[in-house]
Amino acid sequence: MYRIASAEDGRSIDDPDGSNDELLNRLEAGDPTAVAELAGMARRERSALLDTAAGLHATTLAMEVLANDDATIDALANLLLGYMQEGKTSVRTRRSRRLVQSDLLSSLQRVLIQRLSRPLSSATDALIDLFVVTGNKDPKTQFKVRVGGLMHTLCQQLIDNRSPLTERLLQLLARCIRSPRNAQLAGRIRDFTKAVMQRASDARHADVMARHLEILYLVAKNKKTRSGLLTTGVPAKLVALMERIAPMLRDVDPPAESTLLIVGLLKLFANSRKGKEEVLSAGMVSACEKCLDALETAVDKRGDKMATQLQDALCSLCVRCVPAEKFPLAGQPFPLSFTLPRTRTRTISKSNGGERVGEKRATTSYARAADGGRSSDEDQEEADDEFAEELGEESGGSGTSDMDDDVRELKGDGIRVQSDMPVLSKYSKFFVELEEGAPSKDKRKYGSVPKKKSIVGNANGSIPAALPPHPISYSQAILNQVQHTRSIQRWAKIAYPEMVGPDRELPLQPLVFSTNAMRLVASKAARNGLERGGSKDSFKSRIVYSLDSMVEGREGGAEANGKLTNDDRARLGKMDARCDHLLFESRFESGNLRAAIQTDKTHYELILQPEVNQARDHFQWFYFEISNCEANAEYTFEIVNCLKTSSMFVHGMQPVAFSVGEAAAGRPGWVRVGHSICYYRNQYVIDADVAGHRKDRFFSLRFTFALRHKADVCYLAYHFPYTNSMLRATLECWTARCVSSIYVRNDEIGLSLAGNALTLLSITATGTAKEVAERDTVVFTARVHPGESNASWIMHGLLEYLLACDDAIVREARERIVFKCIPMLNPDGVVAGNHRCSLAGHDLNRVWDSPNRSLHPEIFHAKAIVQAACETCSPLLFLDLHGHSRRSNCFLYGNNPDQSWRPSDVVSSPTLEFVDTAEILEGIAPAFSSRNCRWSVAHSKEGSARVALWRQLGLQRAYTMECSYAGFESGPYKGYQVGISELKEIGRNLVQTALTLCKKDEDTRSRVVE
Ligand SMILES: [Zn+2]
Repeated sequence: MYRIASAEDGRSIDDPDGSNDELLNRLEAGDPTAVAELAGMARRERSALLDTAAGLHATTLAMEVLANDDATIDALANLLLGYMQEGKTSVRTRRSRRLVQSDLLSSLQRVLIQRLSRPLSSATDALIDLFVVTGNKDPKTQFKVRVGGLMHTLCQQLIDNRSPLTERLLQLLARCIRSPRNAQLAGRIRDFTKAVMQRASDARHADVMARHLEILYLVAKNKKTRSGLLTTGVPAKLVALMERIAPMLRDVDPPAESTLLIVGLLKLFANSRKGKEEVLSAGMVSACEKCLDALETAVDKRGDKMATQLQDALCSLCVRCVPAEKFPLAGQPFPLSFTLPRTRTRTISKSNGGERVGEKRATTSYARAADGGRSSDEDQEEADDEFAEELGEESGGSGTSDMDDDVRELKGDGIRVQSDMPVLSKYSKFFVELEEGAPSKDKRKYGSVPKKKSIVGNANGSIPAALPPHPISYSQAILNQVQHTRSIQRWAKIAYPEMVGPDRELPLQPLVFSTNAMRLVASKAARNGLERGGSKDSFKSRIVYSLDSMVEGREGGAEANGKLTNDDRARLGKMDARCDHLLFESRFESGNLRAAIQTDKTHYELILQPEVNQARDHFQWFYFEISNCEANAEYTFEIVNCLKTSSMFVHGMQPVAFSVGEAAAGRPGWVRVGHSICYYRNQYVIDADVAGHRKDRFFSLRFTFALRHKADVCYLAYHFPYTNSMLRATLECWTARCVSSIYVRNDEIGLSLAGNALTLLSITATGTAKEVAERDTVVFTARVHPGESNASWIMHGLLEYLLACDDAIVREARERIVFKCIPMLNPDGVVAGNHRCSLAGHDLNRVWDSPNRSLHPEIFHAKAIVQAACETCSPLLFLDLHGHSRRSNCFLYGNNPDQSWRPSDVVSSPTLEFVDTAEILEGIAPAFSSRNCRWSVAHSKEGSARVALWRQLGLQRAYTMECSYAGFESGPYKGYQVGISELKEIGRNLVQTALTLCKKDEDTRSRVVE
């Protein structure tokens, strides 16, 4: 028998007696008995044979020679599928890579074309499966099917229709035209689109119709193709199809996918004015109404998610067809600015966010969609594919698959090992406890860190390192801290929640789904002239809040605000007799309302501030105050300049509110509020040539909400706010009060662009230098993205546990671990009410690979701390806290070399060390879901903390932790929105996780010693 039985999986084998050669020769010659022999071999032997280059070559050659023999093709396709899909992850990955490298895809393509070109012959399911699986792994799939002819063959067969394409082949065709380039070429094939439309109309089965519509959708994404389709009356044909489908929506199994695809197509047409007219004159509104009527009963039946989704899609199509209006502030430059320091070296600034944005802009929307799926950090470039989201598609396979060759080059550059960091000795002073020990409170000199001078200059507003003689209250501390916080905008007040301290743990609130919201919007749109004969609402819109008119210039700089206070309690119950509308305010820390426009008696359109110096817009975070309200009146708020194509606000999330009236009545705290919540693309457009705007269209977040008290003062926000001043005031109180067995040092490691202090906390139990040196070190960071205030609440829970609690677990954690925490990586962004960037206008979680000292001092110093930690005490764990706006639960992103975009990252014997943190968290954190974790390393993430620190500093356990803004879809909190309690609990769970990791590693070490 073959001598390969003893070979290990994955290792190439010798064949001393040449018995394999004979089989290989027969395979290459197309001997069906050799195929049978190969198929019959035991799994292990078969794998060993395929592991050799000659074995693989002979097998693929045999497929080509025997392309028209169904049994052979099936046997070989199943053989290769099994080879690729069985075994451990590392084995599977290596084998897939081999098959890709040996260009299996091209062989399969030739086999497919051969089979398709013969009448009555078709592809077998196993062959298509194998092609799809291989195609998912091969980064050049789109290129190969274009050049190799498969795409063209399938298109032609669809046109000829002599042997109609089966559903599987239609799926395959849809895959072939996923890249914009292929879709464009397919759209140009004579009679192709006409044939697709015809087949869709003629289809008898819902699935076949949906596949044709999907193909039509993919080609119609191309603008030119679309205008061609417009002249051949495709919109009218689609509307007719929709009319025909409408009654079927009452069925138990409605043609939901086809309906969504028609809606998606009509939305594409509605992107142009001419298309919009065409869609409307074809009778779209009445067709939609018929569909909506049919769905009515299904929606009323609680829990029919699909019906609700269809209803929302139909309504948003109607809203999309509302005549476009100019964006209210179009062309009006934002009055606040911040002048950036000049940078010295061009080479470094080349790798900053600006350039990166440029790169991203060059990529096509589909490629972004492909990358934007599972592999993404929240910080993903937006998947510009609304339809995919409507279908609930998870795009992409593993982050590196299925991408178009046109937009993705596997280049080896872009990877830079940090060499231009400052002399690390400058940062070693922040690890003084290793040298000098951690003395108890009374004995501490606090002399180790320079008090007067920080390493980068003035220690402006930093928390005193020495403990004050008398612990102060939070309300005193916040008054003090706000004075020193530097901002580019002059503030009018301290917001009430920050003034009184919003750390109130309230009961869980369920996710809230609004089924009627989009219908309200659509019927209003219909009323307002969407249908002929409709009349506009008579209310005359007026601006009731305008930040632009109140801004005091600071000439491009940032300053401290001086003394501020809050008199909200005194304002309660007092209506402003001169005003018959709500009053707005957002001139406070993290506030960001630019304008409020009253468009109806109780309807307000709101516009959020842009981020200064931004390369591209990010409007998501909001925080503002309302007053002058009637009791129990329903007010509708519509934020009209959102940019993301989808939002968790349609998946049960509500905004948060803090009512001063409620606080006065003894019920203080942030609660989730609002009903009739919806999120959709609105009628506003902005000309592409208006400076500072890349996006030419906007989305609205709309919610309705009634206040209980007349003349209340109420704060509304995207998520539970957590300001920089509040952090500093909280730390001031905690560090002053903590017990003497805790060693805590609060160092200023540098200053942000605006001159706000960057804080590093070092926390451990008191001990001698020797004791401290034996402890493990963990590093936690948070809030690089200012809109992600949930990250701060997690950090709040973590620090509170370490500094203000004393149970057995935390005591042991402090005795075994030195905690290094940078609780606010981007204070300027938080202060300004940004969502994403720093004052440099850059996403700071994209510059970790090469931070510029002048432009990104925040990351420059933070990275130096981690680098110094790696050199002095090799940290056990690095974890950066984030918030996620499109997913539920709390989860991790980590680095699996096997799932990296760089082939050279793949290691022969991977350690799975990175997974253990998730396993531990899964066991102790109710909010955590390891199912949501992702371990891929995408090209676009090279500048993120977790990838850069893993790649450059070798940190195996380097993570991004994401927590949903919305809530939970699994675990004990399933069905509930996330609250402050749950966020703080995650913080405590992280301390426990660090302790477990530390014990686990100790066990491993002692076992090695034994
Ligand atoms: Zn983030």
